Amino acid sequence: MNTIKATNYEVFFGENSYDYLKKTLVKTAYSKIFILVDENTSNHCLPNFLANLATEVEIEIIEIEAGEENKNINTCLHIWEALSELSADRKSILINLGGGVVSDIGGFIACTFKRGMDFINVPTSLLAMVDASIGGKNGVDLGALKNQIGIIKEPKAVVINTSFLETLPQLEMRSGLAEMLKHGLIFNKTYWNKFKNLSNLKSDDLDGLIYESIQIKNEIVCQDLTENGLRKSLNFGHTLGHAIESYCLENDAKTTLLHGEAIAVGMILESYISMEKNLISKEEYFEIKYILKDIYETVSFNKNDINKIIELLIYDKKNEFGKIQFALLDGIGNIKIDEKADNTLIYKAFEDYATA
Ligand code: NAD
Repeated sequence: MNTIKATNYEVFFGENSYDYLKKTLVKTAYSKIFILVDENTSNHCLPNFLANLATEVEIEIIEIEAGEENKNINTCLHIWEALSELSADRKSILINLGGGVVSDIGGFIACTFKRGMDFINVPTSLLAMVDASIGGKNGVDLGALKNQIGIIKEPKAVVINTSFLETLPQLEMRSGLAEMLKHGLIFNKTYWNKFKNLSNLKSDDLDGLIYESIQIKNEIVCQDLTENGLRKSLNFGHTLGHAIESYCLENDAKTTLLHGEAIAVGMILESYISMEKNLISKEEYFEIKYILKDIYETVSFNKNDINKIIELLIYDKKNEFGKIQFALLDGIGNIKIDEKADNTLIYKAFEDYATA
């Protein structure tokens, strides 16, 4: 599979990706290479990565604790201090070896340390391969509020090696699948149709599906890097999904949801809203609901939960002039941005979500 050309960088894919990485590292004279990992990618991915990273440049490793609850400014402080103590300068490069938490936080660190150093994303989770590592959005959460602090700056390169997925827990694979399903729903009906019967998919199909998903995300980002129009389509399922993720993260009585699990709920709810606005048919809605519910267990929400989730919508990054904006489906494979939905409709969506 060929390298995918992004706006200002390339996504290297497959067996030769380490060769491309070496070439990228040689092109610029870097003073030091810093590799950011979390405790899991340090165990499962770093040894193999280092064995393949033949370089004369000095390497330093910085490790953070795994998990969304660590995607915050305190972890940034720890990394900034480590970089400073280890004499990083603006000619150093940061390689983010991990899932979306590592690439989001690492990208932000690279953009801010000494006003900016280069960074490369080497995603190790499915979600980071098909989504988080691509497109230049970097940042951290503010308390439980998702991605409130951040910056858009593209990496120097993205290196995709799907063999990292061999150690990724099954639940995390499922979480990443949600963003792949989203790519089909918002942009390419043929791609969505490939997931209609998951049991027919073979593990050999996975690389091709990941590659296509990256192509879809990249095509959208290339047309609208700073999210003035088309890129908002990637937020389908995320307006309610992020609020649900934040609510479960800060509420001890709720089981914390993985990003993709929360987005799957958000996609069902926002598909319902799309149907109620006559943007998709009943059949299309039921198809989406059936497929997603078959993969992701139904989460239960009581009235109080729903009220609190709706309150959280005011923090959504897409809001303009205090108005909550949705990206809704306009038929499968198309999206309508800047749509509104009143609270009554959101309650109805939750009610229908609870039914089989
Ligand atoms: P994550 O980074 O927390 O990774 C999930 C878990 O898998 C972690 O415990 C991690 O240590 C572990 N892991 C990763 N790779 C592994 C491997 N190969 N083997 C064993 N364990 C491994 O979460 P994620 O699902 O990768 O990413 C979610 C994050 O991405 C969220 O913070 C979300 O907001 C963000 N995101 C960002 C964008 C963007 O455009 N920047 C897009 C989508 C999601």
